[in-house]
Amino acid sequence: MSNRRKFIKSSIYGGLAVSTASLSSVACATQTEVGEKPIVVSTWKHGMEANDGAWKILSKGGKAVDAVEQGVMVTEADPTNTTVGIGGAPDRDGNVTLDACIMDENDNCGSVAFLQNFKHPVAVARKVMDETPHVMLVGEGAKRFANEQGFKEENLLTPQSEAAWKKWLEKGNYQPEINVENHDTIGMVALDSNGNLSGACTTSGAAYKMHGRVGDSPIIGAGLFVDNEVGAATATGLGEFVIKICGAHMIVELMRQGKSPMQACREAVERIVRKYPNDYKNLQVGFLAINKAGAYGAYSIHQGFDYAVRSNTTNELIDAQFFGS
Ligand code: ASP
Repeated sequence: MSNRRKFIKSSIYGGLAVSTASLSSVACATQTEVGEKPIVVSTWKHGMEANDGAWKILSKGGKAVDAVEQGVMVTEADPTNTTVGIGGAPDRDGNVTLDACIMDENDNCGSVAFLQNFKHPVAVARKVMDETPHVMLVGEGAKRFANEQGFKEENLLTPQSEAAWKKWLEKGNYQPEINVENHDTIGMVALDSNGNLSGACTTSGAAYKMHGRVGDSPIIGAGLFVDNEVGAATATGLGEFVIKICGAHMIVELMRQGKSPMQACREAVERIVRKYPNDYKNLQVGFLAINKAGAYGAYSIHQGFDYAVRSNTTNELIDAQFFGS
């Protein structure tokens, strides 16, 4: 089926959107829009292991906010993952700088950006949420806070990441890379057995970015947004374009208006395509959302975005639908 036809078919499904007023199990037109709880969904293939981490908490009746924190920490701790936590690709000067945020069912949120030398930025973000009157700490201040909270500093640049960065430097143009592949943030949103939603998002950001660059991932409303009345959404891909449309917040508001998670994600992607016709072909953005009924959906600009789902009835990796070129 052509992308265009897939798109039209999706629009037809859109007419059967989940009503956000209906909080019980809801069956919609696609397999990915059947609601249940508890449930956790995460971006990309590494979301499978992250979901396992979250599921240890969700399956025992634990809170979504604890599940998403523990879940994405699995990815942060993996040195072979070059897009999150330790082993994340550095900026163009060789510094690994991490961004993360977390948001719970009561609109509490915490975020850190441009944080260096701590492999679990999401745990620091959780402390910002729980222990300070602020939402966001960045750079040196975030580092000082992490030290005060007892987090251990360590070198996050693995020999593999360093070698890849040096190879990149050999190309000699020293320009930040914009392409459709350079993205693998983990964003996770979950609904617990008490019917509460939470989310977390953590990344090393765009590989070989300019020093000091912060993307969408730690920005509440862009890379992550949760509204316990409605749903939760997260993003991956070139953060600058997610920030420009306030992606995650937009998706939650679209679900509030009655759109299904997939339909809301698709509409956000279409907004990027429509507003940036000269840019979208060369960049990837993927959105993932869940609603209050536990129905989920995703959509990306280009083919290749997948997401992991774990519940009592499923544990799988799903290819997201996409707009195409
Ligand atoms: N969204 C992230 C950023 O722009 C990149 C990614 O998804 O890997 O920092």
